[in-house]
Amino acid sequence: MTEVIDGNAVAEEIRAGVSDCVETLTDTGVKPGLATVLMSDDPASETYVSMKQRDCEEVGIEGIHVDVDNDAPAEELYDTVERLNDDDDVHGVLVQKPFVDQVDERRVLRTIAPEKDVDAFHPANVGRLVAGDPRFKPCTPHGIQRLLESVDVETEGKEAVVVGRSDIVGKPMANMLFSKSAGGNATTTVCHSRTEDLAAHTRRADIVVAAAGRPEFITGDMVSEGCVVVDVGINRVERDGDSELVGDVAYDEVAEKAAAITPVPGGVGPMTRAMLLYNTVKAASAESGVDVELP
Ligand code: NAD
Repeated sequence: MTEVIDGNAVAEEIRAGVSDCVETLTDTGVKPGLATVLMSDDPASETYVSMKQRDCEEVGIEGIHVDVDNDAPAEELYDTVERLNDDDDVHGVLVQKPFVDQVDERRVLRTIAPEKDVDAFHPANVGRLVAGDPRFKPCTPHGIQRLLESVDVETEGKEAVVVGRSDIVGKPMANMLFSKSAGGNATTTVCHSRTEDLAAHTRRADIVVAAAGRPEFITGDMVSEGCVVVDVGINRVERDGDSELVGDVAYDEVAEKAAAITPVPGGVGPMTRAMLLYNTVKAASAESGVDVELP
């Protein structure tokens, strides 16, 4: 029988553990703080930021939000980040993507202090992950790692195929899957938009992580019986006049063959949010020197 991996339940456990860490830190006078910065009038970005703020509130993290005017010079955004870097009440800084045209994305990522970079996108933190000594693990791949652990999926020696090579999902996910220090130890293939015969790769995979942003494009004939499928995609499609959220995986037909699969919604999404809270308490603990038992 196919196991549906319940991201909501695993995320809830992590959030409960994070809540305990917040209590320990707060008892010693350290209130963990996460700052979100938004320079965009994109409604989806506004929703993501308000969800992150709500998540903070629920676990007792101090949420600080800064809006930077859409039309302001890019310097205003860089200065805002510098100010938050210097603010002792802020332990994590997150600038919501995508960025407006005048902003240099690489400069934003370099400006966030590495010890407050709870998204783990700063080149120093990317380097540490690759070197096997992560300060923070990036939220989405870390969440996926936890989901696999939650259903006892053994990655060691297995064939893993990651579809997508983005900096935020594909690349760090592949790294964590193949590296020994991150516990993956899988033989890992990264497929992307120029991959010839994607299905040939996915069919021989024991574990498929789909992160291409293409609605339902991993179909039943592209996976093998008994594989484990993690669907990272979040795609809004119009169907019969209604707007619907679907993943990168054609769920019904793939679930028929898979041993385990993550649904959309309720799979990877809640884990990404939970791991951001996790990284924020980790940052607060490291900065203050107060030990906590991370979940
Ligand atoms: P991205 O657009 O930055 O990267 C997509 C990657 O997919 C690229 O590397 C590209 O080469 C590859 N790709 C595109 N078409 C392909 C094809 N036909 N065959 C093989 N590879 C192909 O996307 P991203 O930021 O990595 O996000 C991917 C998806 O995951 C999106 O739907 C996004 O919304 C979603 N996402 C979800 C979460 C979550 O928490 N659930 C987090 C981040 C991203």
